[in-house]
Amino acid sequence: MSMETGYLLRCLHCHTSYAKNEVGYCCPTCELDGALDVLYDYERIGASFRADVARRDAFDMWRYRSLLPIPADFRPVLHTGGSPLYTLRHDERGRILVKDDTRNPTGSLKDRASALAVALASSRGYDTIATASTGNAAAALACMSAASGMRCVIFAPDSAPREKLAQMRAYGASVIEVAGGYDEAFVACYEACKENGWYNRSTGINSYMSEGKKTVSFEIAEQLHWQVPDRVFVPVGNGCIVGAVYKGFHELYQMGCTDRVPRIMGVQASGSDFMYRAWRAGTGPNGATAQPARTSAGSISVALPRDRIKALRAIEHSGGEFITVTDAEIFDAVTALARGCGVFAEAGAAAAYAGMQKWGSLAADETAVVLVTGTGLKDIAGLLRSGVLAEAVGERQVVAA
Ligand SMILES: *Cc1c(COP(=O)(O)O)cnc(C)c1O
Ligand SMILES: [Zn+2]
Repeated sequence: MSMETGYLLRCLHCHTSYAKNEVGYCCPTCELDGALDVLYDYERIGASFRADVARRDAFDMWRYRSLLPIPADFRPVLHTGGSPLYTLRHDERGRILVKDDTRNPTGSLKDRASALAVALASSRGYDTIATASTGNAAAALACMSAASGMRCVIFAPDSAPREKLAQMRAYGASVIEVAGGYDEAFVACYEACKENGWYNRSTGINSYMSEGKKTVSFEIAEQLHWQVPDRVFVPVGNGCIVGAVYKGFHELYQMGCTDRVPRIMGVQASGSDFMYRAWRAGTGPNGATAQPARTSAGSISVALPRDRIKALRAIEHSGGEFITVTDAEIFDAVTALARGCGVFAEAGAAAAYAGMQKWGSLAADETAVVLVTGTGLKDIAGLLRSGVLAEAVGERQVVAA
């Protein structure tokens, strides 16, 4: 057994603390309502965190391993994280930076979480890892499993796009199609993991996924020489990413590595706006009614977000806001980002930029970061259907040779 970073787990619902090996994925009392926070010894780790980071050669998510729940001798296989931070604009209307997480092994920020899931599963002796998902999380898990020689089983709703299932199968994952939607796939995955002793990566049960995703905040801070931006715009579906972005910045602040936490700006599609409504109502993470999701931005199409406690905390504790944008605004943002700085985002990811544009203006000395969570290459069909290309570029022209 190798040494693993020490940490505690605390339930966000009932606030009970557990030792790291005392519980599985979530709070045993609160079950699926009881997402756990992974808490480290910030005072001890903080004393040398920046120096530890500076000593690492590779610019990837593992350079922050003193604040990750992995064994000290863990060896990464694929280059994950370490994505570029570009300047989209810097003038008297402020500075807008784009964090390009399309540049990951499968083209999305989900690679950070899946890489950590596989690291956890293998350090705990599992040989099979499973997840319920329709899209980016499953592709990421299939890829990371393949690279690490682990067996991967995906539970996908039978309505999932064929292209995405093909990508998972190309990586060698077993894909089990489940009649129904994400909820049915989630239950099937949960049962199968219990019965077969597989590791379960599903969002909504596995509390550790925030740990992989928070590394994007560490990178942003390091790329800005440990100065934090004023605002970070993040797309919100289940709320895991937005919660993790906040946690990363908050941990840096707690350790004294930075002097404040940026305002976290959560952006939802107007047809999938549970968090926005709950935040406006001010009555906690269950303070809205779930409604069927209606948006073409698949990655943020969620009726009832599973990480709503963490998502609401991110906005409330950082003094940020939730914003909603229409699908038309989202697809306009896809082309604006591609043309503005050469980053081609999928709709769910471009929502962050749509939110930034809609929210308003920055002061001249303010910096905003737009988190681009996934590539547009996986859903060209969705972009064509949106009509935004015909509008912007004009009719198709065929020139005779
Ligand atoms: C999953 C995903 C999101 C939403 O993240 P949540 O953690 O579900 O809020 C946004 N963009 C992309 C590209 C994603 O894959
Ligand atoms: Zn609990």
